[in-house]
Amino acid sequence: MNLLNKFRDPKLCQNLLSQIKEELEDEFRFMEVCGTHTVAIFQSGIRSLLPQGMVHLSGPGCPVCVTHDREIAAYLALCEKDLLVATFGDLIKVPGPGGRSLKTAQAEGARIKVVYSALDALNIALENPGQRVVFLGVGFETTAPTVAAVIKMAGKQGIKNFSVLSFHKLVPPALAALAADRQISVDGLLLPGHVSAIIGIKPYLFLAEEYGLPAVIAGFEPLDILQAILVMIRQKHESRARVENNYRRVVADQGNLRAMEVMDDVFERCDALWRGLGTIPGSGLAISSKYEEFDASKVYGQELPLVEEIPGCKCGDVLKGLIQPDKCPLFDTRCTPARPVGPCMVSTEGSCAAYHRYVL
Ligand code: SF4
Repeated sequence: MNLLNKFRDPKLCQNLLSQIKEELEDEFRFMEVCGTHTVAIFQSGIRSLLPQGMVHLSGPGCPVCVTHDREIAAYLALCEKDLLVATFGDLIKVPGPGGRSLKTAQAEGARIKVVYSALDALNIALENPGQRVVFLGVGFETTAPTVAAVIKMAGKQGIKNFSVLSFHKLVPPALAALAADRQISVDGLLLPGHVSAIIGIKPYLFLAEEYGLPAVIAGFEPLDILQAILVMIRQKHESRARVENNYRRVVADQGNLRAMEVMDDVFERCDALWRGLGTIPGSGLAISSKYEEFDASKVYGQELPLVEEIPGCKCGDVLKGLIQPDKCPLFDTRCTPARPVGPCMVSTEGSCAAYHRYVL
């Protein structure tokens, strides 16, 4: 039996499910804030196996989904300049104002290239010294250190035709905004394994201390997820709240110090605009003045345009766990993975796309 199979053992999963059932007193609403958890919970069948009373909510954990219309509008505005825009594949399909996406801009002649990493974008700049290249920076603490490392590399190599439009976001401030929002009813949080591998456990401690919320860092295999759910329910059962690290094979309590150092050197905290959550103070990463020659917002004077919201799209409510995806009136009618209206239907990690794929 290989290591992964051990975390998918059906007998152990059944055992954990029985314990969850036994310890569940009444309703328990848990939210995951990681697109990989969203997909893992649907794909493994956990969602359908959970006992009655367990409510699974997907929060703002998919980086593409939380990218705001105004940020998409800024990306589109960059495409109108004489530039090559490099982007992750998911982002290219996200509809922005008026339903236009980067894919639309590409079809209209904008030079847009899908890349797998910021390093790919830097290499394009290196190979094409006459071409100005802008990388569209989205993602959480998982992605930001790699982008920071590439910006440092560009600085060391004296590359002049490369920059980044950074709309990177930080998870703990978004969790603070969710926890403080009285509209949102959540009993426990499944914390993201990937992000936690970078930031460790400390930035989440406020969830238990200030809001009395059980919160567990978990991996992505069925046993990881079920065990984390059991830990949350047990805490509620025992009327206590703690933040626990249940993903020790990957996440060190102190996080990845080197990655955080690189990130802190290149970025500084700024307020950021989240789809559904609005502006959250200190939740974004802007490129610091030390590296401003690589900051596309300064190099090209690109600000956030004012835009109208996508009519009818309920992505904001879905991302806050206020409604399940199928309660959006456009779900599976006007909005499908083939013709998405909102970003939650675009990304493979979006909750609407996961709901469409695994629930229907
Ligand atoms: S179904 Fe489509 S329009 Fe509705 S919330 Fe999901 S992504 Fe947005």
